[in-house]
Amino acid sequence: MTADQVIDTHGDDTATPVPVTVRASLSPSRAADFKTCPLLYRFRSIDRLPERPTVEQARGTLVHAVLERLFDLPATARTPESAGDLVTPQWDRLVTEEPELATLFADGDTAGREDFLRSAAALLEGYFAVEDPRRLEPAEREALISAVVDGELLIRGYLDRLDVAPDGALRVVDYKTGGAPREAFEARALFQLKFYALVLWRTRGVVPRVLRLLYLKDAEICDYAPDAEELVRFERTVVALWRAIEQATARQDFRPRPSRLCDWCSHQARCPTFGGTPPPFPVAVAAPDPLVDARSRPATPGADE
Ligand code: SF4
Repeated sequence: MTADQVIDTHGDDTATPVPVTVRASLSPSRAADFKTCPLLYRFRSIDRLPERPTVEQARGTLVHAVLERLFDLPATARTPESAGDLVTPQWDRLVTEEPELATLFADGDTAGREDFLRSAAALLEGYFAVEDPRRLEPAEREALISAVVDGELLIRGYLDRLDVAPDGALRVVDYKTGGAPREAFEARALFQLKFYALVLWRTRGVVPRVLRLLYLKDAEICDYAPDAEELVRFERTVVALWRAIEQATARQDFRPRPSRLCDWCSHQARCPTFGGTPPPFPVAVAAPDPLVDARSRPATPGADE
């Protein structure tokens, strides 16, 4: 496990920076993996088994990219038509950056690709049904935020959007594009948002007023208002989760926890629940650099993290 020094100002920009030694880092996606199913965490974070992108994940990535770019336009130009015009260029950009996305459609399957682009545009219609981006000026988009908790654990992740009201109130917004039943994923989505709320509270000294899940497929908004006491408890949960991950790693013991989310798991063939056998535990687990965050593409379960 690596240890690096970072500077922690405990949310006070005027305070003398305090160097802290970071032993490990945890993102909301990986923490949620462990909560969902310890074996899934192992497959993704320790074995680092590849997961082929699915059409649903690719659609989520594309819609997130369009919504991010939409706010580059002047406010008055943020119309459904403009968003629609961004779909194909953003898809072309994503395919250039991640060529394996092109393998989602067979060579010459123009109709499949066109259907896919139309389905992304349909999700954007869901967005415009619940928000008017001409009236919004996000403070941050696709921003990497991080904080040190428990003196040595770096928690960090990318939030889709952060809105700041004139009175300083924060609203964290997360776009959900997945077609999976919402009840199967809502707890995971809220866990992720509380993770961001904790980071913002610890770094800026402000508890976000609203955590917003924006379901594009259903054109619905789910708002949640956290409070400081809850975030204190949540911080304890995150630290306990990390300790459990460390113990499981030391014992090389990551058990499957079957649930409805198994239907979206890429690793059923290696999972004992489905008659599979996990690969041998890696001899030396390469610890990720806690200060470097390689953002992985959205991966199920969670579909559009
Ligand atoms: S199939 Fe289910 S139990 Fe098995 S690793 Fe995936 S999520 Fe866990």
